[in-house]
Amino acid sequence: MQTRKLTIACPQCGSLDISYSCSPSCCFNHVCGECFTTFEPATEALGKTVSGAMPPQPLPEAADPTVACVKCDSTKVYMLTDDELACTACGAALRLVLNEIVPG
Ligand SMILES: [Zn+2]
Ligand SMILES: [Zn+2]
Repeated sequence: MQTRKLTIACPQCGSLDISYSCSPSCCFNHVCGECFTTFEPATEALGKTVSGAMPPQPLPEAADPTVACVKCDSTKVYMLTDDELACTACGAALRLVLNEIVPG
């Protein structure tokens, strides 16, 4: 099953103009290009696995929204449906959660 590039809506203004300026080895701090709210996305396991989830084509760029799998720490986490994510490394079905929300 083909997944889609991760998109995250700003928790303050709903904008999809979100960029990731750090690296997974540091932190997952994202910033909204509209209102400059910052937040850190994370995942929660839904307790099921998705078989055959394929990474999107083309792959996201480094500044695109990125989140780590809560199960295996891989950042190969993409959208399966509008509200369900899948880790294409371990197959976990995931849900997006946003932490550390700081309004800009
Ligand atoms: Zn915003
Ligand atoms: Zn995983």
